[in-house]
Amino acid sequence: MFLEEADFRSDTVTRPTAAMLDAMQTAPVGDDVLGDDPTVKKLESLAAERFGMEAGLFCPSGTMTNQIAINVHTRPGDELICSPLAHIYNYEGGGVAFNSGVQVRTGGDAYGRILPEDVHRLVQPEMDVHAAPSRLLVVENTANKGGGTSMGIPLLKNLESAARQHHLAYHLDGARVFNAIVREGESTEDYALFDSISICLSKGLGAPVGSVLLGSKEFIAQGKRIRKRFGGGMRQAGYLAAAGIYALDHHIDRLAEDHEKAAMIDQWLAALPYVVERKPCQTNMVLFRIDAVGGASALQAHLAQKGVRIMAMDTEWLRIVTHLDIQEVHLQQLNKGLTSFKP
Ligand SMILES: *Cc1c(COP(=O)(O)O)cnc(C)c1O
Repeated sequence: MFLEEADFRSDTVTRPTAAMLDAMQTAPVGDDVLGDDPTVKKLESLAAERFGMEAGLFCPSGTMTNQIAINVHTRPGDELICSPLAHIYNYEGGGVAFNSGVQVRTGGDAYGRILPEDVHRLVQPEMDVHAAPSRLLVVENTANKGGGTSMGIPLLKNLESAARQHHLAYHLDGARVFNAIVREGESTEDYALFDSISICLSKGLGAPVGSVLLGSKEFIAQGKRIRKRFGGGMRQAGYLAAAGIYALDHHIDRLAEDHEKAAMIDQWLAALPYVVERKPCQTNMVLFRIDAVGGASALQAHLAQKGVRIMAMDTEWLRIVTHLDIQEVHLQQLNKGLTSFKP
C-alpha cells in the first residue's frame, strides 16, 4: 500500500496489500484458545513443516515467541548466552528477568554474531556452586542491532555443536530469518538444527501482526500453556493467521528487492562526508554513525521536515530499513534529504 510518508524506520510499518486483506477476510476461523481455528492450525503446521520442525504456535508478537521459548528452556536462576546487541537483551522490556528470572551473559562481535569460541568462554563451570547454570544459547539471524547481519548455516551449525557440547538449548530469534535465507540462498529446512525458532510475519513479510514459535511437539505443548499465562491466547485469530499464510506464500522472494534498495542507500551514505561509520549492509537495513554527538537527532529532524522518517538508535547511530511499501518516490525523497543535510 502507498505510504504518504517515506517511512524507513522499520520493516514493521507496512500495511497489508489488497490481496492479503482479501485472504484475511475470507479465512475460515474459530476459537483458537479452544483449539477450533482451522486457519491458525494451517499456519502453524505450514511454518513448522517448512522449517523441518514438529509443531508451531501462533503468537501476537516476536517478543512473546522469544519470551515463551526462554521460559520453557530455563528455570529461575539460570543463565542464557546471547550477543550484547540481542533483541531479547535490549528490546524486550527486561522480560528475560521479569518473565523467567533468568540472567544474561553476553559475547560476540560488533555485528551481533556469536562464535563457538565465545560460547566456550561464556559457559559457566557446571560443578561450581558460585555460578548460575548456563542453560540456553540464543542467536539472532539476521542480527538487527548488528546491521541486519546474516550468520550463515555453517556458523549456525558450529554453534549448534558448541551448544550440544555444553548441554545448552539452542534458540533462534529469527525475526528476520527470511532475509538471511534469501541473501544466502539457504533453504528453510537448513534451520531444523535449532531446538526452537521464532519467526516474525510482521517484519519484512508484511503481515500486520504475528509471529510463530517452532519446536518439538512437547516444547510447543508447554509453550501453549505459557502463551496463555502471558495473555497471548487469541480467539478468532485465523484472520491474522491468514495474513501470515499469504505472506509465507508470496512475500519471501521479493525480499531481494529490499536488499537491493538497502545496498543502494548504503552507497549513498558512503559518499556523504558526515557519515563516519557504517555497519556492513547485508540485508534490508543500513546502520550508520554520524559525526557530532547529538547529530543523530538533528539528521532525523531534518529528514522529518522533508517527510522522511528514519530511526535514531542513540545520539550517533541511525537506522534505515527498506521494506514492501518503499517505492521509488520514497527513495528519491530520502536521497534529497540526506544530501541536503548540513551538520
Ligand atoms: C522485531 C524483532 C522481534 C520481535 O518484536 P515484536 O515487535 O515483539 O514482534 C524479535 N527479535 C528481533 C531481532 C526483532 O527485530
